[in-house]
Amino acid sequence: MNSNMPTCLACGRDANATPLIALRYQDRGYWICPADLPVLIHDPARLMGRLPDADRLRPADHRD
Ligand SMILES: [Zn+2]
Repeated sequence: MNSNMPTCLACGRDANATPLIALRYQDRGYWICPADLPVLIHDPARLMGRLPDADRLRPADHRD
């Protein structure tokens, strides 16, 4: 895999494999795929080690 290509911060797939959504967080850019967006919304702590301070992000209140 070309390391210069943007990849999903959760699953690591690149934009050839999945659409990627750009994020801005703590003055850095990140990418996440639609399949992993619910993880960021509901279980951000699962991204610990991939996103700084992920364990301090507050999950959305609602669950669906
Ligand atoms: Zn992903």
